[in-house]
Amino acid sequence: MTAKRIGLLTSGGDAPGMNAVVRAVVRTARASGAEVLGIRRGYNGLINGDVVELGSNDVRGLNSRGGTILFTARCAEFQTEEGQQRAAQTCKYLGIDALICVGGDGTFRGALDLSKHGVPSVGIPATIDNDIACTNYTIGFDTACNTAIEAIDRLRDTMHSHERCSLVEVMGRKAGHLAVYVGIAVGANAILVPERPYDFQTDIADKIRRTRIQGRSHFDVIVAEGAGNIHEIAGQIKEETGLDPRVTILGHIQRGGAPGARDRVTAARMGRHAVELLAQGRHNRVVCLCDGQLKDMDIGEALKMKKDLQETMYETARILSSG
Ligand code: ATP
Repeated sequence: MTAKRIGLLTSGGDAPGMNAVVRAVVRTARASGAEVLGIRRGYNGLINGDVVELGSNDVRGLNSRGGTILFTARCAEFQTEEGQQRAAQTCKYLGIDALICVGGDGTFRGALDLSKHGVPSVGIPATIDNDIACTNYTIGFDTACNTAIEAIDRLRDTMHSHERCSLVEVMGRKAGHLAVYVGIAVGANAILVPERPYDFQTDIADKIRRTRIQGRSHFDVIVAEGAGNIHEIAGQIKEETGLDPRVTILGHIQRGGAPGARDRVTAARMGRHAVELLAQGRHNRVVCLCDGQLKDMDIGEALKMKKDLQETMYETARILSSG
């Protein structure tokens, strides 16, 4: 069945480019004669009927805005059978034929559950963590990398002046993709990620000692948030090397800001693709980007997949940080 009234929600952690998805979905839908209802605060809005009609004018200028005009939330109630039934009833009451759910793995799990209650959907991957297995790329990743790089470049100036060791924690939850990309880009001395165990002596202390002998006086260590306690690592560095480590946790700054070209364009492509899938009556799919090609996959199959770090990227980071 072709969707005539599409519900659109953003859920989980926000990511730069979510607004560009909203614009792309609304404009593509309107062009093909479908309506879009924006659902506010993720699955909360679906449970509570918190919706807003979105026309072409409502999404003007959204490409350059970070965050999400639909707001986002984590909704524990939606993980219960009762919550999902209420959400499905809202869809029925509002005449929503299908949903487009923008977010991460959790958001897609929610969409899959809802499909079992008769509400079909399409998922669009948007998270700065780039931790969704079915796609090489998730909306927000590139902008978050650039935000972190800019902050670390600034830190490096002052660390260099004071001949200090800088430890920077980047986001990523249980994934180290952001840490590896950022670490390569800033030329870090060490990059710690949850997917690969590290040995403090070999991977940090020896590197600092070796490069110190070669004349280096400041050091950068990038720590993915899931890789260990950054304060404890800083303490170990102080004890072993006598350096004066400084810890910076970049935190939510990585989530904000105007999306860059890659995220705006990916949002436009994925948003359009999602609406076209619904127009063709192809439901319960996740939009993916694989080797630059836009594809889609069954949500259930996508959720079974596991994503590891790209070995070549990790290896590149390891080799380049060894000197
Ligand atoms: P991010 O990767 O940015 O954190 P996410 O989509 O993975 O994004 P989650 O907080 O895991 O973020 O999930 C978002 C929402 O999806 C949850 O608050 C909940 O409402 C719903 N959700 C998550 N897991 C499930 C599940 N197993 N079943 C039903 N709904 C779920």
